[in-house]
Amino acid sequence: MDTNDREQRHRERMRRKKTVIDAAIDRAETDKGLLLVLTGNGKGKSSSAFGMVARALGHGMRVGVAQFVKGREDTGEEVFFRRQPGVTWHLLGEGFTWETQDPERDTQMARSGWSVVRGMLRDESIDLILLDELTYPLRNGWLEIETVLTDLQARPPMQHVVVTGRGAPKALCDAANTLTELRDVKHAFRAGVRAQKGIDL
Ligand code: ATP
Ligand code: MG
Repeated sequence: MDTNDREQRHRERMRRKKTVIDAAIDRAETDKGLLLVLTGNGKGKSSSAFGMVARALGHGMRVGVAQFVKGREDTGEEVFFRRQPGVTWHLLGEGFTWETQDPERDTQMARSGWSVVRGMLRDESIDLILLDELTYPLRNGWLEIETVLTDLQARPPMQHVVVTGRGAPKALCDAANTLTELRDVKHAFRAGVRAQKGIDL
């Protein structure tokens, strides 16, 4: 086969591929509020979610962020996004007693945190909600998955929700429209590098 033949065949293959892709794009004509879940042990869950927050704000959309924090760290995303008009920021569960072990207090805190989230899930003017590290209280049994799913299902039809965190429960993954599992292949921390500003916080 000479070069011309090969190029001709390549062009033909690409043309067929484009037809298939264009048809798929044409078929996807529905608009709806999505539930996205970013889970797994690899780095990039929260930072990917904040990328979507930036996109939404760029389009003039209103965004609500709720962080279920384990330990308090000053992150660049908080400093940056908190001062953006259009962003409502809630720090929930600060001081979960992961060291002192008081499950009753943690459950109480997780529940009152969820009622704040529920308020956003009933607010049609919020276009995108980020529930950062929501899997943390779920995994620890402080928050019931049934409650969370019921409120998610009842939200306004055009509202998007992004959930991040390791070990997302199966029922949440099943409910997701878009589910991404980030795989940990390598992380600098294991080579002795501490968290770097702009990269890890
Ligand atoms: P990021 O906020 O960087 O996107 P993440 O949300 O995927 O990370 P978390 O479990 O929330 O991951 O942990 C946040 C912090 O832990 C970040 O500083 C991140 O770099 C670090 N981290 C994430 N994954 C790993 C890992 N596999 N090994 C070591 N450290 C990690
Ligand atoms: Mg995270």
